[in-house]
Amino acid sequence: MDLMTMDQQYIAHTYNRFPLQIIGGSGSTLYCADGKEYIDLGSGIGVNIFGINDEAWKCVVTEQLNKFQHCSNLYYSKPSALLAQMLCHRADMSKVFFSNSGAEANECAIKAARKWAAQNKGKEYVHIITLKQSFHGRTLAALAATGQDVYHKDYQPLPAGFLHTEVGNVAQLEALLKEYPCAAIMFEAVQGEGGVMPIGQAYADALSSLSREYNVLLIADEVQLGNGRSGQLYGYMNYAMKPDIVSTAKGLGGGLPLGATLLNEELAEVFSFGDHGTTFGGNPICCAGAVNILSRIDEPLLQGVRNRSSYIYNELSNAKGILSVSGMGLMLGLEIEKPSRQFAQELLHRGVLVTTAKQKLRLLPALNIPMEQLKQAVQTIKDCAAQ
Ligand SMILES: *Cc1c(COP(=O)(O)O)cnc(C)c1O
Repeated sequence: MDLMTMDQQYIAHTYNRFPLQIIGGSGSTLYCADGKEYIDLGSGIGVNIFGINDEAWKCVVTEQLNKFQHCSNLYYSKPSALLAQMLCHRADMSKVFFSNSGAEANECAIKAARKWAAQNKGKEYVHIITLKQSFHGRTLAALAATGQDVYHKDYQPLPAGFLHTEVGNVAQLEALLKEYPCAAIMFEAVQGEGGVMPIGQAYADALSSLSREYNVLLIADEVQLGNGRSGQLYGYMNYAMKPDIVSTAKGLGGGLPLGATLLNEELAEVFSFGDHGTTFGGNPICCAGAVNILSRIDEPLLQGVRNRSSYIYNELSNAKGILSVSGMGLMLGLEIEKPSRQFAQELLHRGVLVTTAKQKLRLLPALNIPMEQLKQAVQTIKDCAAQ
């Protein structure tokens, strides 16, 4: 049985895979079973932020693997403590809860917000306001938080207490805050899955001031945008916001599953023993790798992200067949004349791999993609769009 047939026979049909088998890679080049090499502008949906087979990361991961692979959260281990300290220092936060994915990081954020509100405002303050077109993950609570009906329809009833408001509509947000007893507002500074749309400075300012006025927490979902992708360590930093809770995952582990929920001083003591937990979260191999990743997200790297971003904007903004470019840093959306899936297929045939988000092409390259390769890929996109 060939691999594609086997996969289709035995793996649940939740993914519409591209007809390509990955067998290896180096940096932003992927080697495939068809014998060809591809330029990777997807980095495994924004995960491999230093590309494939990154030497420095592999080295610390292997070193930890040779010590012990897991010890459970019943004991102390160095990698998670080091990583938590680093995250707190870099993001000006007080405590971290580690998990294994973005959805779990958001579950923790939601639980922390609900518990804080019950303790500080009253039991009825359960509502969490999120934005239409948002994406917060696939577990039932993260799904309820996700402001897109298409993901909800087959999974009713969802956990209650989630309200969705239109991005940019400040009056609607304030009306919800007045009508419902709320715990928090949750947002992505750039909506990823929803179409790579930044919320904009004016709306970001409104989120900050209304959250203060109504004494609700601000939760920044930085699962996709965080860890340097926006050109700052976290996306909300571009808008000078100060969220109370930050959830992140994707790029943090550099390719290994790791989620983190960062809590500020106000929430530092919200959880006590037994309130929340996980078997795998904070895995020593994932955390050792993440310490290496985070230590390399420094100002020169971020400047490189911003430079690459400007290059893509300049080249593609007025290119033939491309209607618009949106996004921040190296999380960019291209609105194109052709259907996005078909366009992605055509690019694949020309040796460039991209992801899509709704009707857009979504570019999430490694943060250190060599300029030569980026230029080559951008030229391919231009050629393809112009035809
Ligand atoms: C991918 C994503 C999630 C879900 O992360 P998983 O690791 O797939 O659970 C949540 N929020 C945002 C903004 C994401 O992009």
